[in-house]
Amino acid sequence: MLDVGRHPRINLLAYSEVENVSGDAGNFRVKVRKKARFVNEDLCTGCGTCAEKCPTMTVDVFNAELGSRKAIYKYFPQGIPSIYTIDKDACRQLGQGKKCGICAKVCQAKAVDFEQNDGEIQLHVGAIVVATGYDVFDPSVIPEHGYGRIANVVTALEFERLLSASGPTAGHLDRPSDMALEKEIDDLEKEHKKLSRQLKQLEEKHGKSSAQVMDLVKSGAAAADKDLHNWAASAERFGELEARLEPMRQKIGAAQPAKKLAFIQCVGSRDFRFNKFCSSYCCMHSVKEAMIANEHDNEVSSSIFCMDLRAVGRGFEEYKLRGGKQANIKYVRGRVAEITEDDALNPVVWFESTTSRQVLHETFDMVVLATACVPTAGTPKLAELLGIELDSNGFFKTDPLAPLNATRDGIFVCGCAQGPMDIPESVAQASSAAARAAEVVAPARQVAAAGSQ
Ligand SMILES: Cc1cc2nc3c(=O)[nH]c(=O)nc-3n(C[C@H](O)[C@H](O)[C@H](O)COP(=O)(O)OP(=O)(O)OC[C@H]3O[C@@H](n4cnc5c(N)ncnc54)[C@H](O)[C@@H]3O)c2cc1C
Repeated sequence: MLDVGRHPRINLLAYSEVENVSGDAGNFRVKVRKKARFVNEDLCTGCGTCAEKCPTMTVDVFNAELGSRKAIYKYFPQGIPSIYTIDKDACRQLGQGKKCGICAKVCQAKAVDFEQNDGEIQLHVGAIVVATGYDVFDPSVIPEHGYGRIANVVTALEFERLLSASGPTAGHLDRPSDMALEKEIDDLEKEHKKLSRQLKQLEEKHGKSSAQVMDLVKSGAAAADKDLHNWAASAERFGELEARLEPMRQKIGAAQPAKKLAFIQCVGSRDFRFNKFCSSYCCMHSVKEAMIANEHDNEVSSSIFCMDLRAVGRGFEEYKLRGGKQANIKYVRGRVAEITEDDALNPVVWFESTTSRQVLHETFDMVVLATACVPTAGTPKLAELLGIELDSNGFFKTDPLAPLNATRDGIFVCGCAQGPMDIPESVAQASSAAARAAEVVAPARQVAAAGSQ
């Protein structure tokens, strides 16, 4: 990725969208909208002072919404180009019309530009490669898996962010239910601290204790005094918070990271209700995630529930077996019927073991759903702009005899834009697509050069 950013003959248009395509192979005109970042790309040094001082927090989409980030942000730390962008909707000044501008004040490079508008770029190109990848299937449409209802049921993508050293838990397997409890405690403690300060000020100013004021209000002696009523209400809320916070603090103090994991395969794939195709990479990413979790903490054990485990690729079967022998991974042949939740917020997996022919259930600390690979939301619109067709699963259609060719000359498709595949296959396809594009561009250049002589 760094090589791409530095390459003298690659012009990277990040944060941009194709708006119109005309012309033919060897001679396409492409209109691109370059979205306003409200940060001047040529001036920003990526130092991060703006984000450090920005007072506004918002959800971190890159971390699967499990953490938060500032309103001025880099999408992810290694992103290219390494510059900041203001999230217009979250920003106090741009989104809420409030006075702020702290980022502009602290930016020594003077890169923040609240007046920046979207830009338009016209490209003249010989060939187009579509590499728009995939989205992950939304598992909340499968009610029996409880995603969105049971806190400790997460998707594989969310689990990857939890496992990551740069993720919201710095790589520790904290359970989402405990993370939510911690957040609730944080919010209540802020309110508790604020009320404590206010009550102390009132007590000092009026020479009365909050308990005396509450008694006065209860006895009816302060009937017409609005200030005393407000004071008593604050004191009552303060007491409520004290009583609520103590057991919550004890509970979080006793919380443990997840040690017993279940991975559920084919969530939305190979399921005729949703997508009949196999998403191909999920078997191996579940084995990988279970292996990494065990490397992080060797007390972690995992059960992978699958119809069959498709370890197709050089060394993949050996990797799967190594997981079983060295990383406490158990492979369970059986499709999961339902996930319920016990009183300690542990997910309980109900399944039919096809080896023992019994309906069984087992309790876990966390369940990870291997969700299907589906076409990106923007695929139909892009297909229309490019004038190319989609296949029956909604991915870009390619020619079985020329597997990079889209249904229009001069346009090629690689990676998950044409269907589920892993990184090595996507990279190999990307090289092929670049070579196929060069085949179109080279003769077109010769024709253009001959014309200009
Ligand atoms: C949880 C999880 C774990 C995985 N782990 C592994 C693993 O360990 N090993 C492995 O080999 N594979 C793994 N995979 C699969 C891997 O993610 C894919 O094989 C790979 O990302 C496909 O690469 P791609 O370039 O085709 O698509 P993507 O990685 O999806 O990249 C597409 C890019 O195009 C951009 N884009 C989309 N639409 C547009 C548009 N209209 N205009 C401009 N840009 C656009 C996107 O923002 C994105 O940056 C995993 C998948 C998941 C879900």
